[in-house]
Amino acid sequence: MRLSRFFLPILKENPKEAEIVSHRLMLRAGMIRQQSAGIYSWLPLGKRVLEKVNDIIRDEQNRAGAIEILMPTIQSAELWQESGRYDDYGREMLRIADRQERPMLYGPTNEEMVTDIFRSYVRSYKDLPLNLYHIQLKFRDEIRPRFGTMRSREFLMKDAYSFDIDQDAARHAYNKMFVAYLRTFARMGISVVPMRADTGPIGGDLSHEFIILADTGESEVFCHRDYLDFEVPGADTDFDDVAGLQGIVDKWTSLYAATSEMHDEKEFARVEDGARLSARGIEVGHIFYFGTKYSEPMGAKVMGPDGKEHPVHMGSYGIGPTRVVPAIIEASHDDAGIIWPESVAPFDLSIINMKAGDEACDGAGDTLYDALTGAGRDVLYDDRDERAGAKFATADLIGVPWQIVVGPRSIANGEVEVKNRRTGGRENLTVEAAINRFS
Ligand code: ATP
Ligand code: MG
Ligand code: MG
Ligand code: MG
Repeated sequence: MRLSRFFLPILKENPKEAEIVSHRLMLRAGMIRQQSAGIYSWLPLGKRVLEKVNDIIRDEQNRAGAIEILMPTIQSAELWQESGRYDDYGREMLRIADRQERPMLYGPTNEEMVTDIFRSYVRSYKDLPLNLYHIQLKFRDEIRPRFGTMRSREFLMKDAYSFDIDQDAARHAYNKMFVAYLRTFARMGISVVPMRADTGPIGGDLSHEFIILADTGESEVFCHRDYLDFEVPGADTDFDDVAGLQGIVDKWTSLYAATSEMHDEKEFARVEDGARLSARGIEVGHIFYFGTKYSEPMGAKVMGPDGKEHPVHMGSYGIGPTRVVPAIIEASHDDAGIIWPESVAPFDLSIINMKAGDEACDGAGDTLYDALTGAGRDVLYDDRDERAGAKFATADLIGVPWQIVVGPRSIANGEVEVKNRRTGGRENLTVEAAINRFS
C-alpha cells in the first residue's frame, strides 16, 4: 500500500477526550472514529489490526473443533421470553419495535438464539459434541462507555457455544476452549492469566476470565506471579485427548488467581511471600459452563444412549476483539506510539522514502516495494512529499514492526537502513540484502 493512496487520518494534537494511552493512540493513529457515545467506526489501519486479531481467534477456534456460523444482530424478544431473560436483562439491553410493533432487541449475547438453532436440528447424542461460534457485533447500553473501544456500547464479540450430552463431556468442551484461549492470546503477543470468575447473569458454576495485567484495567485482580512464566500449550496439542487437556487446565488453575468478586483474602495470604501479585487487569475473554440453564426452559433435548431424552449441557465462550486491540496497545507502546506484535501488526514493514522526488530514492523505494509485496509481505510505502521527520514520527506512531529507511546519503552507497520498532536497533543493508531479509 502506497501511503499517498491510503486513508490514514493522523491527528497531530492529543485528543482531549482520551483518558488512557490506548484510546489516545488509536485516535491519533487514525484507527477509529467515534460516531456517537460508545459507537465507533474502524478506519483502514484499525480495521487491518482487527482482522488480524479475528484471524487468530478463528484459527484457534477451528483448531479446537468449533465451527463458524453467523447469527444476526437483531433478535426477536420471544426467544428471550422463553429463557426468562427478557425481563431480567435490564437496561443494558437495547429494545426496539418493528413496524408491526413486535418487540425486538439488538443482541447483547446469543445463548437463546443458538439454543434455538440447536433444538431445531439436533436430536441425538450421536451428533454431539457440537460447538458453534460466530464473530458478530453486540450491543450493550453500558452506563459508562469509556476508553474508546475498550468499553463501548456496540462491540465485536467472538462467542462460541458448546453442546454436550452430560457434565463430563461438557467439561471437556470447556477445557478445549480454555486451552484455545491460552493459545489465542499468546499468538497475539500478550500474556493473560485465567482467573476464577463470577458467572454473573449468565449463571452456572464453572467460569474463568482471561485477564491482561495493565495499570489502566478496570478489574482488580489477585494472582500468583508464576503464571506469567507458564509455557503456553503448543500447536500440536491434541484437543481430543481428554486426560491431556485436563492436565493442562489443572496446571493453569493450580495456583491462586481470582478477580475481586471471587477473591479470598485468607487463601491469598497463604501464597508464598514475593509471589503474591495484586494488580489491575483487563478482561479480554470469559468462559462459562452453565449446564442446562437454557436447554431446560427452551426444550433443547437429545436422545441419549439410554434411549431417554436429556436436556443438553451447554457452555459459552467469549472474546472481545474490539477490546483486545486497545488491550494490546496498553501492553505494548512507548512515548512515540504503538509497538505492534508482529502477528497483529497492520503491515509487516514500512518503507520510508526520505526524499520523494529524488531519482535514486524513488528508484530504490519502488524496487523494495515491488519485491517485498511480490514476496507476499504487507508493506506500507511512505512515498508522500513530506518532511523526513514527519514520516519517521508517523511510522513510530502507527507502530509497524520494521522500518526500511531509504535516504539520499545511504542510497548513494547502495544501502538502506533497517530499524526495528520495538528495540530501536538499526542496521545498514544493501537493497538486495534488505529484500532477502524480509522475503
Ligand atoms: P465487563 O466485565 O468488562 O463488563 P462482561 O463480563 O460483561 O465484560 P462478557 O459477557 O463476559 O463481558 O463478554 C465476553 C467478552 O466480551 C468480554 O470478556 C470482553 O472481552 C467483551 N466485552 C464485553 N463487554 C464489552 C464492552 N462493553 N466493550 C468491549 N468489549 C466488551
Ligand atoms: Mg459487562
Ligand atoms: Mg466481566
Ligand atoms: Mg465477563
